[in-house]
Amino acid sequence: MSEQEFDLAFDQMLRTFGKSTVGAFNVKEYVEVMKKQLQSSREDVERLANELRNVLPWVVTQEVACNGLKCREAVCMSCNMDAAENAEKASQASIKASEALAAHDKANS
Ligand SMILES: [Zn+2]
Repeated sequence: MSEQEFDLAFDQMLRTFGKSTVGAFNVKEYVEVMKKQLQSSREDVERLANELRNVLPWVVTQEVACNGLKCREAVCMSCNMDAAENAEKASQASIKASEALAAHDKANS
């Protein structure tokens, strides 16, 4: 995976999940930390790939409903009118990230 591909994958994640919290951690902060690390050291690419691999299972790609608990998730149909659209974006971002990781793995196998 090239640095550009990584930037693209992380930008996609940031755009999609920038306002969302997934579980206990804030995706926006996470992505920004990752991008800073990427800029500071190219040799961290392998580690970043693993970080991306770790975060992918936590990406919510389907509409959910908290039924008034005010979770504020981007994909929550109770909290967000654009939940369906956001779920679709999340799904696409997740597919792109998976493809980038697969390309990375292939290049390094
Ligand atoms: Zn909610």
